[in-house]
Amino acid sequence: MRQIAIYGKGGIGKSTTTQNLTAALSMMDKKIMVVGCDPKADSTRLLMGGMHQKTVLDTIRDEGEDIDLEEILKSGFNSIRCVESGGPEPGVGCAGRGIITSINMLEDLGAYTDDLDFVFYDVLGDVVCGGFAMPIREGKAKEIYIVASGEMMALYAANNIAKGINRYANRGGVRLGGIICNSRNVDNEHKLLEVFAKELGTKLLYFIPRDNIVQRAEINKKTVIEYEPDSNQAAEYNNLAKSLLENEDFVVPKPMTQERLEEILTQYGTM
Ligand code: ADP
Ligand code: MG
Repeated sequence: MRQIAIYGKGGIGKSTTTQNLTAALSMMDKKIMVVGCDPKADSTRLLMGGMHQKTVLDTIRDEGEDIDLEEILKSGFNSIRCVESGGPEPGVGCAGRGIITSINMLEDLGAYTDDLDFVFYDVLGDVVCGGFAMPIREGKAKEIYIVASGEMMALYAANNIAKGINRYANRGGVRLGGIICNSRNVDNEHKLLEVFAKELGTKLLYFIPRDNIVQRAEINKKTVIEYEPDSNQAAEYNNLAKSLLENEDFVVPKPMTQERLEEILTQYGTM
């Protein structure tokens, strides 16, 4: 079982990418569970046909700790198992708390079955707070990918996440598997991301083009894989899935200084 955490700044495309990637993997007969670790609880919406599934925290709030697995784990597209951790009410408590509670609950209820090939954690891009580091902290997810783009704030966040990973990697077995670029059509973006990844000691695992078919599929409450399996964009997600299946490069990332990041941006981001 490969347990994979997807990190990246908010709005970068973690949930879209994770759902299309897992949908593609499921078509290759892989058995998958997706655990949404964003208080927004929209990590599995496209796999669930738009259904807003009740979060683990809300379920516990309404029914107490004595719950059944079926209440928090729903079957989505191609039998992908979907869980949303949820978060506290806005302004109350640690947003990462839901993740800790969820993972413990999933363990207690026996959700990590042997037939699973993959568990994906779709995590809000902030590993500074302990809760958000949970999927990698206790060695649950050993493999991490960061979703980024050529935009400065996305790279800034990615570098910060690498710092967080670095801390846990030095203590445990967690490793960075690569950067996934979700393109924003920034100038020279492909090269910029390659250089950025190399500087971190990792590689650009895949470059996903920006395509409005993603929005069309989203309006129809589907992944592109389900909505238009023969489209170019679906082929991109299939290739991303293949890259991930074949990936064997796992590293302890070497975060860069703010100065170095800015240097790379000026050198490659303006060509
Ligand atoms: P995150 O989970 O990182 O907060 P989302 O996956 O919700 O981000 O993506 C934010 C928005 O970006 C979504 O509305 C989605 O439609 C759009 N998006 C993501 N990836 C692409 C892409 N490759 N092409 C076009 N739009 C995209
Ligand atoms: Mg998301």
